[in-house]
Amino acid sequence: MAKNPFENALEQLEKAQDIEPIDSVAYEIMKRPQRILEVSIPVKMDGGGTKIFTGYRVQHNDARGPCKGGIRYHPNVSIDEVKALATWMTIKCATVNIPYGGGKGGVICDPKEMSEGEIERLSRGYMRQIAHYIGPDVDVPAPDVYTTPQIMAWMEDEYSKIVGKDTPEVITGKPIDKGGSEGRGTATGMGGSYIIREASKELGLNPSESTVAIQGFGNAGSVAASILSKMGYKVVAVSDSHGGIYNKDGLNIDRVLQVKKEKGRVSEYDGPCEKVSNEELLELPVDILVPAALENQITKDNAPHIKAKLVAELANGPTTPEADQILHEQDVLVTPDILTNAGGVTVSYFEWLQNKKGEHWSEEEVNKKLDEIMTPAFRDVYTKAKEKHIPMRTAAYIIAMHRVADAILKRGY
Ligand code: GLU
Repeated sequence: MAKNPFENALEQLEKAQDIEPIDSVAYEIMKRPQRILEVSIPVKMDGGGTKIFTGYRVQHNDARGPCKGGIRYHPNVSIDEVKALATWMTIKCATVNIPYGGGKGGVICDPKEMSEGEIERLSRGYMRQIAHYIGPDVDVPAPDVYTTPQIMAWMEDEYSKIVGKDTPEVITGKPIDKGGSEGRGTATGMGGSYIIREASKELGLNPSESTVAIQGFGNAGSVAASILSKMGYKVVAVSDSHGGIYNKDGLNIDRVLQVKKEKGRVSEYDGPCEKVSNEELLELPVDILVPAALENQITKDNAPHIKAKLVAELANGPTTPEADQILHEQDVLVTPDILTNAGGVTVSYFEWLQNKKGEHWSEEEVNKKLDEIMTPAFRDVYTKAKEKHIPMRTAAYIIAMHRVADAILKRGY
């Protein structure tokens, strides 16, 4: 059985600590979240009656700046998952060197089975429960799996009412006309595409001759599919929670996007393709594999069958530590989640800055600034990995943990 994600996160910290240790107290501090909130949220349901939902907010570490990280709505949310995701946010923000710590929230719910009104009441209720523990300079939430700009707008409105003043900078990923940033919606996919572009150069993969399979067609996966196909890569397989499609000569991504929008699943695609399961997609004969769904997808059981030369982790935590080791031994380059998907939080940082300064940047400016953060971060991590003959994940953890430890030590514990 796959380990719980928090155990995976601890194992990843330990691997880096074994190679280039940080101060032992700073390490012990980083192994635990600073604060964990569990809240109950009563929601009036459309059919009459009230349902009580459980939610969490975990503040992992704020040594480098306010805690930062999204809120996930999913039936499988658990406290261990949120703790892992919060830890990864601390490491992620330090890897790309933006002035934040890490946090994460989650609510156990199935938004696919809920009406818009129920989701609004849940989102406002969740914010009422966490409002006194967050803030623009304390902890700044954002979207994650199955949460949207509209949900961020409701939460921001609720927070602003509680504190008695308009406070857009308390949450990021808002709709553009409600203080959101240009380019935030596409940021995770865009940032991941920059990383894939850089990794391709290192591996000598020419985009027009390289095939890509993407697991997950949500905000991150669908945008990456579209950007990568515009960059010239041949996207041959995509999937969502209902299953996937594959055509070795390439899929028409614009058409897949349209079908997904209209019919809710990529498998309704009407172009030439064969159906594949989510598991089969991971083992297809492609050059680049992009897991863009949930945790623990690449495990010790399927890692030996992975044929890609590059695995670019757009999801958080898609590869277990055992699988990581297997991929490293097979000479597969894994660009880790904490780097590959850091575009989302980076543009969240831009959104927060724009809100604080009362500015609005163009999409072009946002994407350029994003590239200027992602590409050097890739270079630093890649160089360290080569120098030490270690996986890029461990290299990123080493860089990030030293940055966090520096901040902990300078503040004093
Ligand atoms: N949920 C995203 C992540 O996992 C974005 C977080 C943010 O923008 O704060 O990185």
